[in-house]
Amino acid sequence: MPRFSTILSLCFGASALLLAGCETTTPSSSGGGSVSGRGDAAPFLPGSSVEPFSTPGGGTPDRVFNVVFVADSDDYGDLGNPANLSAFEADVASVINNGFEQVSAIYRNRTSFHYYVMKETGRVTGNNCPTSLQFPEAAITRDALFADAFLILHKKPGIRDCYNGNRRASAGVRDVDGTLTREYGTAVHEMAHALFNLPDEYPGSGGYWETAPTGVIFTTKAECQSYVTANIPETPLATACTPLPIDGGATMYRADGFIYDLMAPSSATSVDQLGRADWLQFERVVGDVDGSVTAPDVFAPTPWSRP
Ligand SMILES: [Zn+2]
Repeated sequence: MPRFSTILSLCFGASALLLAGCETTTPSSSGGGSVSGRGDAAPFLPGSSVEPFSTPGGGTPDRVFNVVFVADSDDYGDLGNPANLSAFEADVASVINNGFEQVSAIYRNRTSFHYYVMKETGRVTGNNCPTSLQFPEAAITRDALFADAFLILHKKPGIRDCYNGNRRASAGVRDVDGTLTREYGTAVHEMAHALFNLPDEYPGSGGYWETAPTGVIFTTKAECQSYVTANIPETPLATACTPLPIDGGATMYRADGFIYDLMAPSSATSVDQLGRADWLQFERVVGDVDGSVTAPDVFAPTPWSRP
């Protein structure tokens, strides 16, 4: 079953070779994630509809991951109304504090993340990702080309949140119907696709792609075992490289094996931390942007709370 199967299902940009479920797009990069802020012609300063929200520890915009939060107009209304803007910003703060910065790898590298709020709104219209994601594209083009990822926050129950393969994703943030129990992890999960190019690690209908030269999932077990032996020797082969059955009949293999992490199936033992294979991908991408990167305190499945 998909991660968060009892509350939300998630879909994403997928490998063109492994189309399944709702996925219709390819990741925008196979190497350095979807980090568009480097080396492109876009200015690094936000335009008038985008306001800096949080820049933990400083850092310079061209050497960090710039994340822009967008409000669903159905749930937050017109952000020109100060009360609406305040309500939205409170939820943005919750996602940062209870989501992003509860992931040890992100918290320990928090100077690599800048967060922004966009006053132009978008909408999530249903479950037919990616067309269900409606972003204020004109405003993005005008004011936010510096951004590395955009996340619509909404409060709609039953939405299949997703990443569209091109820097844009959605996440429910509220306990609307009494069953949404891991909402903040969903937001981080979707941004982990967009920022770090991490694939899904749950079976079924996610987005699956290899991330060479680091590796999270593999098309063959032998390839997976070779990678684990060389790069993650602390993960015993006896528990690594478990099959990851994918809708449509294909199978891939998880380097992190049975461990339930941020990108993996929901279970009683799930935690929103990176597995060791995820970490190597994170380390490569973040190091490429920031020039340095700090290892997390823990790896999944060990739980962690921000100090
Ligand atoms: Zn996912």
